[in-house]
This record gives sequence, C-alpha cells and structure tokens, in this order.
Amino acid sequence: MEKKIYLDNAATTKTKPEVVDAMLPYFSELYGNPSSVYEFATQNKKALDEARLTIANALGTESAEIYFTGGGTEADNWALIATAEAYQDKGKHIITSKIEHHAVLHTCEYLQKRGFEISYIDVDEYGIVKLDQLEKAIRPTTILISIMFANNEIGTIQPIKEIGEIAKRNKILFHTDAVQAFGQLDIDVDDLGIDMLSASAHKLNGPKGIGCLYIRKGIKIRSFIHGGAQERGRRAGTENVPFAVGFGKAVELAMTTMKERTKKETELREYLIKRVLAEVPYTRLNGHRSKRLPNNANFSFQFIEGESLLIMLDMNNICASSGSACTSGSLDPSHVLLSIGLPHEIAHGSLRLTLSEANTIEELDYTVDKIKEIVDKLRKMSPLYEDFVRRR
Ligand code: PLP
Repeated sequence: MEKKIYLDNAATTKTKPEVVDAMLPYFSELYGNPSSVYEFATQNKKALDEARLTIANALGTESAEIYFTGGGTEADNWALIATAEAYQDKGKHIITSKIEHHAVLHTCEYLQKRGFEISYIDVDEYGIVKLDQLEKAIRPTTILISIMFANNEIGTIQPIKEIGEIAKRNKILFHTDAVQAFGQLDIDVDDLGIDMLSASAHKLNGPKGIGCLYIRKGIKIRSFIHGGAQERGRRAGTENVPFAVGFGKAVELAMTTMKERTKKETELREYLIKRVLAEVPYTRLNGHRSKRLPNNANFSFQFIEGESLLIMLDMNNICASSGSACTSGSLDPSHVLLSIGLPHEIAHGSLRLTLSEANTIEELDYTVDKIKEIVDKLRKMSPLYEDFVRRR
C-alpha cells in the first residue's frame, strides 16, 4: 500500500484540522498575554477560560479545579511530588501499580530517593490491579494512591470506582493518570472518587505539549513551577493560550463524537483481534478481553522479535509499536508485559496496534496480511522456532 497506515494512536494522534484552525488566530492576531489588563488581551483570558470550562465539563467538574500543564508527564510529576511534599507530615507512604507509565514510576523512584516509601501493587494476568493487595498495602502513613485509568500498552481499564472507594474509606488521596482514557471513556471525577487526574491533549487529537491536572478543591498541594501568579498561583509561567485553545477544541470534539467513534474503533479492534488470533499461530492477545480501551490491540507472537516485526511493518508503510523498551535505550521487555506474567522471550515478540476512527477494514486487512507474511518469515529464521518444529 502506497499510503501510510497509522496504527500507533496510543503514542500520539493526528491534530484535527478543526483544532489547528481554532489555535491559529492565537498565534497571529490574538497574541496578547492573558494576564494583561487591556481589552486586546482579555480575549486571550476569555479563550483560556472557555477551554478550561470545556475540559472541566468533560470531567464532570468545575473550571477552578483544572490546571493547565505542559502535558501528561508534568501533570503526573506535579500530582505525585507536590502531594508528597504537602502531606509528608501525615506520612511518607505512596501506593501505585507495577504497570504505570514511566511518568509515574520514575517519579516514584525520585521520591523513594528522598525518603518516601512506595508500594508497587501487582496486576493479574489481564493487567488489572489486585484490589485485595492494594487494601492490604494501606498503612496509617499512606498519603496517596496513584493508579492509572487505562494502560497505554495493553489497554486494560482499571476498576477506578472501586479504587476511589477504597481511597475514600481510608481517607487517602487518589490520583489517576487518565492520559490514555480521556476522550475514550466516560469520566466523572465525583462519581469515581478521583481527587487528582492527569490528561494530555495529544492523545485525543489535540496538540503535543499541553495537558492538565485536575485537583479537587480543598487539596492542599502547592505550586510545582514557581514564578508568577498564573493558574491561580499553582503553575507559574505565561499561559500557552493557542495550545490551551487547541486542547479545549480537541476535548469538545472528542466528547461530541465519543459514542460513535469508540463504537467504530471497537468494531475495528474486534475485527483485527479475531483475524490475527485465527490466522497467526502461536499468538496471544495481551490485556483484558473486554475491559480494554476501544482502540487497543496488543499481541505477542512466539519465536520472533517485536523490533524486527516493527521494522518490517515500517518498510510496508505501517506505523505500530512494540512492547519492548528499546526506544529508551534498554533491551529489556516492557515492564507491563512482564508484570502480567509473560516470560521474557514472549514479551519480546510483542506488537501494539492502536487504532483511530480513520482506519479502515482495508487497512487492517493489509496489515494482518503483512503481519502473517513477516511473522512467518521471521520464524523461518528463528533457531527457537526450528527447534520447536523439530520437537513437535
Ligand atoms: N501517561 C500515560 C499513560 C501515557 O500514555 C503518556 C504518554 O504516552 C503519558 C503519561 C505522558 O504524557 P505526555 O506525552 O503528554 O507527557
């Protein structure tokens, strides 16, 4: 196929033309600083307020609880570090899961080096956090539970409401990294008992480099970036108005299209999963069969290297992602795949395909045909596979 087939929407999404159009005037004609008092700049303040309100409405909360950040990573860092600092008099214990994004896990490591204790909760074979272990991990000194809404690699959706209830019952703050879930799943922070939530615009057809942290009123975490009084004194720095406007527009579009879009993505996902599992032998689907993001399919193909598969898919104009962490300079397989119990050699042969509503059945057919061809070719070069066939 001449055309590129983009199946890596968990990595990032295409910025929608409507989003770009909404942003453009704020680079050129409407360039005022929202903190200035004259009429010209108040239009920027208004645009910022409108974007904040759109995001707040989408999360079932109020504008005053939404703080713009430079993306999901910053929101995660802010939630964890500032909570740890603000509540350390109560205790220095934090609970998270083993399958969090590195934005949470590496921040936990940072806090560990500064005297905080972190409990990393196991997940089951589908990637669902073990709630009994979570409850048992709670101590009088626990100040925060941070569990992601849905996993970026295997798409598993966590029992967020139950975790919210556990946190509330034990008077512990609950933060969730909803970077992959926002725009894909219904989220109502009050109903789910969420105290803090991280989101990122570029995962829902908005621009890269902007996100937000929802902070429930009354939580005493302070500024993460020090300076001016922007973001009600909690996140200093002149606001990125064009990007905030883009984020707001992306959220507005995501909310109005969510039902139809995710239905289509789920149908495409199911078609893809069925074909791959039926037509490529020695293959497994990673993650939960139904409690998974509408657009996520993650497979492990025995006897091959995911990286080789990726490169060969790329040569056929297919953009995908593997389960290994090679891009981070390490040859270790993904911590998520190891946490669901996959042996190293199987985790190494993993492939993540994350769809958008723009994908077509023809694209998926072409992709499955290529996967079959490439997996077959790679297996024929694999001494492990040769050995396996000989012993069969
Ligand atoms: N959290 C999750 C679950 C993610 O998938 C990502 C991005 O891949 C992030 C956090 C980081 O978000 P950002 O790229 O906006 O910094």
